[in-house]
Amino acid sequence: MNLFPLVDAHFHLDLFPDPASLVREIEGAQIHTIAVTNAPSVFRHTQELCSTTTFLHPAAGLHPELVESHGRELPELIRLIPHSKIIGEVGLDYSSPDPRIRASQRTVFSGILESCAAHPNKVLSIHSRRAVSDVLSALGPRFPGIPILHWFTGSMRELERAIEIGCHFSINAPMLRSRSGFALVQRMPSSRIVTETDGPFAKTTGRGAVPQDVAHLVIELARFWDLAENEVRRLILENFSRILPLPSPPAPAPSTPQ
Ligand code: MN
Repeated sequence: MNLFPLVDAHFHLDLFPDPASLVREIEGAQIHTIAVTNAPSVFRHTQELCSTTTFLHPAAGLHPELVESHGRELPELIRLIPHSKIIGEVGLDYSSPDPRIRASQRTVFSGILESCAAHPNKVLSIHSRRAVSDVLSALGPRFPGIPILHWFTGSMRELERAIEIGCHFSINAPMLRSRSGFALVQRMPSSRIVTETDGPFAKTTGRGAVPQDVAHLVIELARFWDLAENEVRRLILENFSRILPLPSPPAPAPSTPQ
């Protein structure tokens, strides 16, 4: 049976020691991977690594937790936005109680959203730890792009609001293993879900997760949704191709029977 290609919609390729060989492995395994970046100054490198590939999709970003140290790079990100279909990792992180830090994150995030809104149909991979409410307010009810909330850990009420304003969700293995994460995923419309690893921040057996690990997540999702594994692959790939139109329609990748 031919299996549909996997999807890793949030992966930090550039934070691994040998990204070039990872690119070859991901490309060989035919896993659609969004390679997010945390600062505009490192985007070019990831963009070059992905330039001759079919399955790697680079994203220009500015991580909220780096706003203090790299916030001055915002103009550089604003210059990149017209040229990058995918923007991420961006968002807000309220782990810090410091109101100054939160305020500067909000300034940077609204600058990014404003620029994205001027270039419609951008795909955004958004971090929202402890800040879902402000992230959703910043997006507003009619954001002219496709927001993907990555590793969503908000409340059920915040989830309802996110669904209402059209957000998509990239979910990972740790989410399914936490009771609250599991309940949130149950409530998410399956047509708005794509898979992610968030490697190397998320770990698998003590090492940073890589796109190949999505295969295990798919098995868990197959149990979760009571679907065949390849049906889950097809669903996720279809969802992903609605977010990011792929050069050819989703088709099963040739693979050895299993
Ligand atoms: Mn991340």
